[in-house]
Amino acid sequence: MKNRLLFLGPPGAGKGTQASLICKEKGLLHLSTGDLLREEVSLGTQLGKEAELIMNKGELVSDQIVLSIVEKKLSKSSQGWLLDGFPRNLMQVELLEKLLKDIHQPIQTVLLIEIDDETLTHRMLSRGRKDDKEDVIRNRLKVYRDKTSPLVNHYMDLGILKSINGCGNIEDVNNRIKEALN
Ligand code: ADP
Repeated sequence: MKNRLLFLGPPGAGKGTQASLICKEKGLLHLSTGDLLREEVSLGTQLGKEAELIMNKGELVSDQIVLSIVEKKLSKSSQGWLLDGFPRNLMQVELLEKLLKDIHQPIQTVLLIEIDDETLTHRMLSRGRKDDKEDVIRNRLKVYRDKTSPLVNHYMDLGILKSINGCGNIEDVNNRIKEALN
């Protein structure tokens, strides 16, 4: 199986949950920029303080901040990795491509988890994270549509995109993903 993966999809699609499962099964490094940023927030670092204000509005944290977080971790991985939540706009795609070129580790497969807005909103509201309030969710979906969804065409053009249906229970979705990655 491929061991350099990128999970793409709207907020609430289950990327984090599914990425954890796949990483555990395949021994990959799980790189979630959302988790890494929340870690900085809970540690109360300067970076965390700046990021928190932006995250609570559902906007994107600066490209340089997320890049530096990813860069630190990626250089340490030897068994392969799974990127979750990064890149999130075309500038981040460019920055990531340069970084991966330098370390000779191109992405092998991009997996798109597709799901409707109503299910997403419902899932996020029941999760109840600090940025899971109705108006913030609406903004996160808008940011996804405006800034992140153009990545779908980009990776499709590169011929490395696969998509699966993200509706249903965790196990069903996990099985679909494993099938797609085989
Ligand atoms: P979700 O995908 O459910 O919105 P994440 O945990 O991936 O949850 O992200 C939460 C928040 O963290 C985002 O709304 C954004 O503010 C910030 N964030 C995460 N990844 C990035 C990124 N690559 N670039 C900019 N901001 C990011």
